[in-house]
Amino acid sequence: MVRSDDVSTLPRRRGDAPPRCRRTAPFRRKTLHELTLAEHVVHIVEDAARRAGARRVTRVRLALGLLAHVETDTLLYCCQLAARDSLAADADFQAERSPAQAHCADCGADAELAALPARCPQCGGENLSLQGGEEMRVIDIGIS
Ligand SMILES: [Zn+2]
Repeated sequence: MVRSDDVSTLPRRRGDAPPRCRRTAPFRRKTLHELTLAEHVVHIVEDAARRAGARRVTRVRLALGLLAHVETDTLLYCCQLAARDSLAADADFQAERSPAQAHCADCGADAELAALPARCPQCGGENLSLQGGEEMRVIDIGIS
């Protein structure tokens, strides 16, 4: 559920619309989710930058698990929004997908998956169980 006081923190100006906003309810919920994650990212980044005595953050590199329920473009856009009044206001936000571990129930192989949908690299089976891949983390930041 989205409460009205949560929604009031969302950007309303036309220029703030995400690049591919379809203005549907599911999209707004998704954006809210990503904005929350983005605020968390900015908090972590500012904290690290302050501890390092930085004046500003120039670059932020994020790793998104293959199965993380996050749309990369939306998250990066939300990071820029969330960083507006922070040390990372002018930072270049980048994200890369990190692989997930899979186990094949057909042949018993363990494999690292870089993309979905996936098949077992050993036998081509689709009977894979996935482990991990839902994490999101800050890999490194550039400061000045
Ligand atoms: Zn297999």
